[in-house]
Amino acid sequence: MTRLQVIDTERCVGCQLCMYACQRRFGKGGIGSAAIFVRSRGGMGRGFRVVVCRACSDPPCAAVCPVDALRIRKGGGVILQPNKCIGCGHCQEACTIGAIFWDDRANKPVICVHCGYCANFCPHGVIALVKEGSKDVIK
Ligand code: SF4
Ligand code: SF4
Repeated sequence: MTRLQVIDTERCVGCQLCMYACQRRFGKGGIGSAAIFVRSRGGMGRGFRVVVCRACSDPPCAAVCPVDALRIRKGGGVILQPNKCIGCGHCQEACTIGAIFWDDRANKPVICVHCGYCANFCPHGVIALVKEGSKDVIK
């Protein structure tokens, strides 16, 4: 299995192309419901922080879901089953790195599925799809 990995945040220029790409995956424009978030560390000189699901093998978000709407993904992370989700927000509170975002319109969490689509658009190789248990970049 593969997973998305942040390779080197020092190379990030904050262009947010990864965020636009993620949202485009769902046929939407903008960045409001992307599953990856890039924010300043506080001033251009300090660079950027890339926040995205780290594909936990024992994800705390899934453990707190009262309706089993987060299926454990092979290779780490979770897959949201939107038809089960009741929008309680417990998963977002449980994520220790703040990598669960929120779709206000749908009232459901937005969680990276580790497809690697965003990595194709990062001009500086900050993020990449890697093989589970390896640092070998796939694309
Ligand atoms: S918001 Fe949905 S996926 Fe998250 S804990 Fe609640 S029911 Fe589960
Ligand atoms: S596309 Fe790459 S360089 Fe641009 S914000 Fe995302 S991670 Fe940073």
